[in-house]
Amino acid sequence: MTRRRLVRPGLGLHISEGEKFTLYLRRLRMVSKHNLSPPRVWMLPSRMRPVLELLESTVGSVDDVVRHNTLFPLVSRFMPAEDFERVLGHFLDGPQHGLQSKLGMAGPRSGWARHRLLRCPECLKEDIGSCGRPFWRRDHLLPGILFCGKHGQPLHQACELCMDYVMNPMRTLHAGRHCGCGVQPVPEALGLSGTLEAAEIELAQITSSLLEPQYLPNLNHENVAAAIARGAAQKGLVQNERFRWSATEKFFSGHRLLPLIRRTGISIERSLSFRDILKGHQLLRHPVEAILLLKVLHDGWSEASESLNKGTEPPFAGVKTANVSSSGLGLSEYLTRYKKENFEANFKRYAQQYVDLRKEFPDHSHTELMGLLPSHANKYLTEESLAAAGIDVPNVKKNGRRIQKLDKEVAAFIRKRARHLLDTAYPKRISQWALMSGFRRPRLFNDARLAPLLVRARESIDECDESEEQFKQRKEVITSSRRKPR
Ligand SMILES: [Zn+2]
Ligand SMILES: [Zn+2]
Repeated sequence: MTRRRLVRPGLGLHISEGEKFTLYLRRLRMVSKHNLSPPRVWMLPSRMRPVLELLESTVGSVDDVVRHNTLFPLVSRFMPAEDFERVLGHFLDGPQHGLQSKLGMAGPRSGWARHRLLRCPECLKEDIGSCGRPFWRRDHLLPGILFCGKHGQPLHQACELCMDYVMNPMRTLHAGRHCGCGVQPVPEALGLSGTLEAAEIELAQITSSLLEPQYLPNLNHENVAAAIARGAAQKGLVQNERFRWSATEKFFSGHRLLPLIRRTGISIERSLSFRDILKGHQLLRHPVEAILLLKVLHDGWSEASESLNKGTEPPFAGVKTANVSSSGLGLSEYLTRYKKENFEANFKRYAQQYVDLRKEFPDHSHTELMGLLPSHANKYLTEESLAAAGIDVPNVKKNGRRIQKLDKEVAAFIRKRARHLLDTAYPKRISQWALMSGFRRPRLFNDARLAPLLVRARESIDECDESEEQFKQRKEVITSSRRKPR
């Protein structure tokens, strides 16, 4: 397990690589159950941008979290870019409806992929988060995955009560937590034949690998559709654009992985939708289904990968991908585009905060002001971009002038203050402290960088503050004048 670099290392509750972001929030106990409790909401929470910005020093940027702490790098490969835009928009900004179906999480056949909080007992020993407790690993939380790809162990679940995080939110605080029931392997993972178990483990390994954008970079929804069509044609299930049901039925009914195919939402039937899937006209949106069908049609994952690398090249370039968008943007292109499109809005937002801070801290330098803004802000605001937008940016030259002005102001204040203290018979010694009190920045001389630059102010202090001797004399005058009868 690696930990991401920290901006504020002292805080200690940073997110771990591969930790599911929404459940990291549980570990922090910071989000009320209201935000996460409807059973599917922890999978697809919304309006996370402000939360991310608040936590930036412990979780990193929005991009970091999307890449390392969500399932988006995997699921984005299986859907058109505009659908993924909506999914990401939902996560960051505001609820979008109908996303469950875009993610293959809704519909009559989605029940096989249950939303459960699963963990691998071996990973629990290794995946220790910054609080010293095991974190929830995103790989294990893809609905439909039964095994840990790393350890080949069945994933484990706690008892029904523990899994009800609406009723018992405290039991989801970290992946090692349960009521005392002890965690048990998921029942579907038990009693499998060696072949099926190996296939389940391989599915978990492939989905884990696909969370890394470097792994099979060509695996996107268009290439998946084309590779499925290529495989179906090679197996003779589709010939000359014709769906051959009897060959299809024969191929699948005798397949050694049939129980696994049946476990998923892939329905082997004489239907238009299955025909369109085999022709590459319709997408299988759930990654597990798409991976499984690719593997079955190509007799193995390495063969399927080769086919994926052929992209949409002939003879299957002619395959009409009616439901498939032509803009197959990858996650990184998407994030770049997203940043570009949101640049203006973000610039405006941060620039306004900058202007407000500038009023509040007129003596702060540009760097100091930027330090008060969320660290995202530096992606949008630079001295140049601010100046170009007509915003007043403090710079070295201006700083010099500002310090001179301040110096003059302090010096004048001190002299006026000294006169006032003398006139009102100030009963204590007129010290630097007494002279500076009442100034808008009474501790100005404590600023080690600023103090040496305030030459006139220093002269005024030297001139006006009283020595013990001077104070003694003044005190005598005050007392004697008070003794005088009126
Ligand atoms: Zn494991
Ligand atoms: Zn329990």
